[in-house]
Amino acid sequence: MRNISREKCFELICSVRDIVEKEIDLHQYFDEDSSNINMELSEMDFEGVSNGYLSEIIYAVTGYEVEVIGEVEELFPCPCCGLKTLTELYDKSAGTGYDICPSCKWQDDGTTDINSYRSINKGSIVDYLNKLRSNPNQYYKNKWLNGKGYDYHEDVSK
Ligand SMILES: [Zn+2]
Repeated sequence: MRNISREKCFELICSVRDIVEKEIDLHQYFDEDSSNINMELSEMDFEGVSNGYLSEIIYAVTGYEVEVIGEVEELFPCPCCGLKTLTELYDKSAGTGYDICPSCKWQDDGTTDINSYRSINKGSIVDYLNKLRSNPNQYYKNKWLNGKGYDYHEDVSK
């Protein structure tokens, strides 16, 4: 099996994205109007992403099975879905937080009560977990490292 570094993975994915953007009319592949497809990619999009997930992407676009090597950036677990997606935690005194989880979209406002309605999120953690469960793609994907004890596949509201 070939080895590829996380940095080279990112370069390769960017190159493929460039080609797709120039050569392929993406809109024809989607059911609904997708005229606002955003092809912008930043290294940040891959921060904390598991090497296994990157190898899946490389396999999908090249057909090569590769082993991705390199240390995964350690991120903080999202208080909602529990996946390690946040670059900083909510800390009022330090003025940090309010990261939006790229997986479940919960904005970290220091909430620990999963049933508490938060106006900033227009819902509770339980609402967001229910939303996750209703989206099959979100439910099964395994992009991020799990940093929390509970499994968000389980219904925690009971
Ligand atoms: Zn989350």
